[in-house]
Amino acid sequence: MAQEQLDDVARLIGLSDSIHRYLRVPKRVLEVSVPVRMDDGFFRMFVGYRVQHNLSRGPSKGGIRFHPDVSLDEIKALAMWMTWKCALVNIPFGGAKGGVICDPKAMSMQELENLTRRFTSEISIIIGPEKDVPAPDVYTTPQIMAWIMDTYSMQRGYSVPGVVTGKPVAIGGSLGRDKATARGCCVVIDEALSALQRPIEGTRVAIQGFGNAGMHAAELLAQRGYTIVAVSDSRGGVANLKGLDIGGVIAHKTETGSVVGFSGGDHVTNKELLEYECDVLVPAALEKVITQENASKIRAKIVAEAANGPTVPEADAMLFDRGITVLPDILANAGGVTVSYFEWVQDLQETFWEEDEINKRLQQKMARAFRETREQAKRYRVDMRRGAYAVAVNRVAEATKLRGLYP
Ligand code: NAD
Repeated sequence: MAQEQLDDVARLIGLSDSIHRYLRVPKRVLEVSVPVRMDDGFFRMFVGYRVQHNLSRGPSKGGIRFHPDVSLDEIKALAMWMTWKCALVNIPFGGAKGGVICDPKAMSMQELENLTRRFTSEISIIIGPEKDVPAPDVYTTPQIMAWIMDTYSMQRGYSVPGVVTGKPVAIGGSLGRDKATARGCCVVIDEALSALQRPIEGTRVAIQGFGNAGMHAAELLAQRGYTIVAVSDSRGGVANLKGLDIGGVIAHKTETGSVVGFSGGDHVTNKELLEYECDVLVPAALEKVITQENASKIRAKIVAEAANGPTVPEADAMLFDRGITVLPDILANAGGVTVSYFEWVQDLQETFWEEDEINKRLQQKMARAFRETREQAKRYRVDMRRGAYAVAVNRVAEATKLRGLYP
């Protein structure tokens, strides 16, 4: 899918054949066997990967996931997507991704620490602040980032906070990182509304997923004056056309573990939420939730993809034909990697910014990426996803061309 998307945009922008072939494959793939001492005293072998797709614009950047379904093909695709995301928001990084095939839910904290430290050690030959900078992804946390930082630092003999981002603030993490993805998503929603010449007041939003991305988006959008009419998590959702009290929903979720049962609205299923009466729909949970089956029923005018890959390609075309603006994932959720970049910059300079400063810089980067995406979408008369790819692929292609072929 990642390669097909590149092929598609290559035709659109007239990418040269040689650069196209260069960008179609990852630059570097490392597979490691990771022996881990388990709590029962025996050791087990795990398989892990680190893939660097492109380094033309700077060190590579991308998360590490711990999941039973991790595969090399998946990591290669995710690494390529990171290249485009970093290029779109114009931060000086290439794309990378890593993963370990494991079931972290079935492992103790000690086993997870042992796994993280040995995996870090195995991939330490290709990571580093000036080479490749990992970050959290599925089932990897700030604590795991702290262990990565510590392991790498122990090998070097001094602290190297810039080797990984998404760390706790106490050891060189950045203020604002926790809400960065949601904040970036809010900026592009604001921009899209303003491009459609619609006011924020009275704009109704439905959000699927109430985790890091979805919950913070609900909170920030409500603060900006949007009316949040529906939210959901894995157990189901709650909706109220007059608007939900988001502070109340968060309190209810903290108390009961779910948004379901909140008294200020009616129960809706996740399927109903996607088709709910609203102006902006924010899928912030899973992949492939907007499909051929429901694309014709979506009532929103704007779909902001906080999640990665929530819309299947066939549905994309249907939404475009219906005049619905889809803010693609590589744009709508790029706030996270943008503040990760700020974290790396702060670590390298050993000086830390106030949260206001971080939010201001994030706002500028996201708004600019939105404008550039829109310009390209207009220029080629395509949807915003192809517009975003055009910006990103052109940027990486230019850097690759300028650097030339070694030797
Ligand atoms: P999270 O684990 O914090 O939250 C996920 C939410 O989705 C939870 O509320 C969960 O209950 C809900 N969910 C799970 N299964 C569901 C289902 N079947 N139906 C409806 N809701 C369901 O994860 P997150 O960090 O918020 O990530 C969500 C999405 O955003 C993912 O696609 C992720 O790749 C993407 N994303 C996150 C970040 C980030 O910085 N957190 C950055 C970029 C992209």
